[in-house]
Amino acid sequence: VRDGLRPSALEHWEEIARRLAGRSPAVFLDYDGTLSPIAPRPELATLPEPTREILRRLAARGPVAILSGRGREDVAALVGLDGLTYAGSHGFDIAGPTLRREIGDGIPERIDRAAARLREELSGIEGALVEPKRFAVAIHYRLARPEDLPRIEQAVDAVRAEYPDLRKVPGKKIFELRPDLDWDKGHALLWLLEALHVERLDEDGGEVVPLYVGDDVTDEDAFRAIEGRGIGVLVAEEPRETAAAYSLRNPEEVRVFLERLAGEPLTP
Ligand SMILES: [Mg+2]
Repeated sequence: VRDGLRPSALEHWEEIARRLAGRSPAVFLDYDGTLSPIAPRPELATLPEPTREILRRLAARGPVAILSGRGREDVAALVGLDGLTYAGSHGFDIAGPTLRREIGDGIPERIDRAAARLREELSGIEGALVEPKRFAVAIHYRLARPEDLPRIEQAVDAVRAEYPDLRKVPGKKIFELRPDLDWDKGHALLWLLEALHVERLDEDGGEVVPLYVGDDVTDEDAFRAIEGRGIGVLVAEEPRETAAAYSLRNPEEVRVFLERLAGEPLTP
């Protein structure tokens, strides 16, 4: 364990390659901070072109799904590739070449109303950005002054109290209001795995090994969902408690890792 981090997925590549030998990886990836470096504004977090090319190669070989906290259409536009499956809003809104699923009932309408209320409450606070995403509303405070954080959180709590079926979830420099349902990236991953696995069985009958790469606390649900069965890789510069078995330091290392994965023969 280097510097208290999980073992590096690059330094332990041989071990990972052995687990994948003769099997098919099902690749699940977070977007922000994993494929794309964290940007000061969400719309600036573009996908590096070499990473896009590797995703294209990976998708030609097997299922690739992006599981993001962003809205589904937003993250699909940023990745810009057909043939991938996109699970937006932490898995509440899923669409792929052969898949479509939305969780819950009437959620986008309630999210819209909550977003309008948040804009009212936060209108006087510079740098607090409200981003409705159909199945969640994000309040970004990366650009706000640190001393405004308590006021921002109070406003979020006040709006949440008006919508008892939403819950507040903290993230990296954001709060989110999300449906208070037992559904997360882990549930979405397991649902997708079943849906995608059935299709894979028709083709080659091979065993599918789920692989998940993510950097945020919400990615821990996905790591736990595949613990013992798949390969979890945490993207982190600093040691952190995680259910992932391996780590990578940044999106650059993720790109190198995915490149190896795309180049690895599926049979030994
Ligand atoms: Mg992330």
